[in-house]
Amino acid sequence: MSQSRTGIDRRSFLKNSLMGVAGAGVLAAAPSALRGGQKPFTAPKADAKTGGSVLRKLGKTGVTLPIVSMGVMNSDNDNLVRATLDAGIIHLDTANGYMRGRNEEMIGRVLQGRPRDSFFIATKVEGQPRDGRSGLFSAETTGEKFLAAFEVSLKRLGLEYVDILYLHNVLHRESVLFEPLMKALESAKKSGKTRFIGVSTHANEPEVIRAAIESKLYDVVLSGYNFMKTNLVDLDKAIAEANQAGLGIIAMKTLAGRFFDRARTQPINTKAALKFALSNPGITTAIPGMTAFDHLEMNLQVARDPMLTDQERKDLKLTVEPEDVLFCQQCGACLDQCPKELPIPSLLRSYMYAYGYKNLGAAYDLVASTGVGQDPCASCAGCSVRCAQGFDVRARVTDIARLQAAPADFFA
Ligand code: SF4
Ligand code: SF4
Repeated sequence: MSQSRTGIDRRSFLKNSLMGVAGAGVLAAAPSALRGGQKPFTAPKADAKTGGSVLRKLGKTGVTLPIVSMGVMNSDNDNLVRATLDAGIIHLDTANGYMRGRNEEMIGRVLQGRPRDSFFIATKVEGQPRDGRSGLFSAETTGEKFLAAFEVSLKRLGLEYVDILYLHNVLHRESVLFEPLMKALESAKKSGKTRFIGVSTHANEPEVIRAAIESKLYDVVLSGYNFMKTNLVDLDKAIAEANQAGLGIIAMKTLAGRFFDRARTQPINTKAALKFALSNPGITTAIPGMTAFDHLEMNLQVARDPMLTDQERKDLKLTVEPEDVLFCQQCGACLDQCPKELPIPSLLRSYMYAYGYKNLGAAYDLVASTGVGQDPCASCAGCSVRCAQGFDVRARVTDIARLQAAPADFFA
């Protein structure tokens, strides 16, 4: 039987998972999770409007969700979001910063007139300011700024509350447990403006997940998770620990950039990639980005039948190390090697947004947020960074940083 990159056979896990959800009925929130004005989230039965999707419980929130959700980050198509909701994919994931706010505004338009208990929405807010290189919060990072940004999100969405509010893009235990932001999240929940609180992470996921468990505050972790990741053994362990502690886990970055290579000559079998993430039964749902109706169609197929076939397993090249991949592990092993202290993981994530997802706006915003110039490696005679994945870091950093030569409003 074939093995995953991690050496773990997922087939038996998946079988158990599907047996566990078979027969799931009406999705309902635990009454204790509801506050004044909040309505119980009741999605239709699995065989009706959820289009026959497999369902899983979200930790101990009392909510059950279809295993496939919509990452709205790259989509500016109202009709696609409408069709997604109508097809039974009822969990939408957005963020305060996506498309500089237009993403939340677009979702707000789509949600107008829809019963509040017919969809489940998550948004994310970053703690600011933070050190661009370490990602740690500074003494100036306050809960007030965080909550003010969240109020803007609610206004754009046209909602009185969201279902999950995430502290976005956290890398370290210290950040998960950063008291001013924990208090802000707690107050948002107490005031009824969010039903659940979570933390999202693109890197160092096991540490972040374990800190979320330690906090006894968070309900959900939104974690990077895909077949390319080299820390899957530890990540799977951390997810199991989170489940044990009652935390829900939602997966992002499951498609690993959509292409193996920068030239886009080797497309990733995204159906297989999504199924791979869902083969971990500890993951409640995944939020693949959708920008086209055929993405929706494919994701609905996966939601109904997530079993990874032998051919799909082969397509993911799980037993070989592909060369020149786009996906940066975000492991941070490069950080201490660069004398100019460049935030290399963020720059290489931006590189993936540009060449993999073709989302130049997101790539531009991320590069600009790091504060590096248009040619940050110019004064370096030679590159001292030895990337754990063997990437030519200087070439990628130089390539993506030049995006800033274009005026910002080209990407607005
Ligand atoms: S560039 Fe290489 S070393 Fe740095 S985070 Fe990415 S994979 Fe890790
Ligand atoms: S060339 Fe390498 S060491 Fe120099 S600034 Fe660029 S990434 Fe850092």
